[in-house]
Amino acid sequence: MTTVDGYELQARLLRALSHPVRLRILNLLVKREACVCHLTAVLRRPQPYVSQQLAVLRDEHLVAGRREGTIVYYRISDHHVAAWLSHGRQLAADGEDSSAMFPPVPEGALPDCPCPACQAEHSGGHHQSQSGDAAAGQPVRARDQS
Ligand SMILES: [Zn+2]
Repeated sequence: MTTVDGYELQARLLRALSHPVRLRILNLLVKREACVCHLTAVLRRPQPYVSQQLAVLRDEHLVAGRREGTIVYYRISDHHVAAWLSHGRQLAADGEDSSAMFPPVPEGALPDCPCPACQAEHSGGHHQSQSGDAAAGQPVRARDQS
């Protein structure tokens, strides 16, 4: 009977996590699922490079893929990954303002991304900005008491 060394397993997970680009990928996949071409557009790196980083994360089951037609959409595999990312950020920030250290990842559609999710948002999601009717509060007329 072979016993699995938990420390060894944990070290393998941390090795997969210990890469700034892979951390950025995970940080994005916490917010939304994305295909390789979307990640390529966000990270502005060559697609083969992004695929390679995704493969490392997939091998350690940190991300899971969902196939739709010819495209695979990735997301984080479970909430423990999100919790780890959040704790890792707090440790790295060491009490400083973490929002300044970790620039936010774009959550919406990217204008220059060819992925189906972004294209769908561009064609369908026209944002209607409503300039709220400045309903001028009618001054209450003082009642004539005579
Ligand atoms: Zn996209």
